[in-house]
Amino acid sequence: MVDLNRRGLMLAASGALAASALGTPALAAPAERKIGYAIVGLGGYGLGIIAPQFKNCQHSRLLALVSGDPAKAKRVAGEYGILERNIYNYQSYDSIKDNPDIDVVYVCLPVAMHAEYTIRAAKAGKHVLCEKPMAVSSRECEAMIAACKSAGKKLMIGYRCHFEPNNLEAIRRARAGEIGKLRYFRSEHGFVAGNPSAWRLKKAMSGGGSLMDIGIYALNAARYMTGEEPVAVYATERTDRSDPRFREVEDMIEFELEFPSGVLGSCMSMYSANRNQILLMGDKGRIELEPATSYRGIKLWVGNGRGGDGAAEITPPPGPGATMWAGQLDHMAQCVLQNREPIVAGEEGLKDIRIIEAVYQSARERRRIALRA
Ligand code: NAD
Repeated sequence: MVDLNRRGLMLAASGALAASALGTPALAAPAERKIGYAIVGLGGYGLGIIAPQFKNCQHSRLLALVSGDPAKAKRVAGEYGILERNIYNYQSYDSIKDNPDIDVVYVCLPVAMHAEYTIRAAKAGKHVLCEKPMAVSSRECEAMIAACKSAGKKLMIGYRCHFEPNNLEAIRRARAGEIGKLRYFRSEHGFVAGNPSAWRLKKAMSGGGSLMDIGIYALNAARYMTGEEPVAVYATERTDRSDPRFREVEDMIEFELEFPSGVLGSCMSMYSANRNQILLMGDKGRIELEPATSYRGIKLWVGNGRGGDGAAEITPPPGPGATMWAGQLDHMAQCVLQNREPIVAGEEGLKDIRIIEAVYQSARERRRIALRA
């Protein structure tokens, strides 16, 4: 689980930002250089979502690109003012070690490539921000953590919701006891998968189906909303294997998480319906987010659970960045500048992958799987 002390610091940092936005002087920070990022993988997320976010950052800049498509890389470099010498391909990737302006490599590749490109970046002396899910297996996650540790480099996983104001406010209220003793967590996450030949639907590239890609949001939220680590899982899978999209990976998977305090977590992930929701119930009320983890439009409600449906919509205080992505990129940059550990370090990604492995085992063997502490 996210270290609550560090979470507290994160919330405190967001408060300082909010204070300065309101004109209250925040602690004076010395002028710092901007941390240089290289994006590896110019696909839907790396190019479509991450690259445009650097304009919202205070401590991060997009400095280099790694792509297998030279024409695309050249075009993107032109758009973002990236020097031609800072364009790499998958063959020249290791020579980033000779480029002192690259501090952090942001791995935005299919999941099966995360371990290799993280380990190569660490060996080249670079810090790594790697997309979720961290890797296709816990063994790979462990190798990534070990490589970054032995190179003395930071490793952070792209769990953007840890920088999203509504999710942060939901966590704050749950920890503050606003809904009383926590009893039940529920999250459904899904979208309709399309092209059967996409890497997400190929097990060797994705490591699994909806659970790896979108169900991981429900799992990660179960942990950050309750502040607890599950002790056991029980899962059921439903997949129409005659659907060409689901020859190799699962569609629907439902899993129960048992938490030490007695909270029950109920998570559902699917590739055949659109859904994005989180509910946390306590003995004095409930917290709901819907959509909960989408790119935009996230909404938060808090209610006392009495007298029917009386939940009120909450406007959260500003988050740690202008957007959740800017907050995420700048958090990594500040960790590098101030030699701090990211709040969502490699160990956080590893924990999710270990639980995911247990969920798959439970669905396969149709039995409850206890998780090691
Ligand atoms: P994508 O298919 O759009 O992009 C993948 C990129 O990898 C492309 O540029 C492609 O050319 C490149 N690539 C290199 N070798 C490849 C190969 N052998 N097969 C396929 N592509 C190859 O995928 P995406 O949606 O950008 O996802 C990339 C990563 O980002 C994944 O880890 C995914 O889980 C993650 N992601 C995270 C979020 C989020 O909200 N945090 C959202 C979407 C994707």
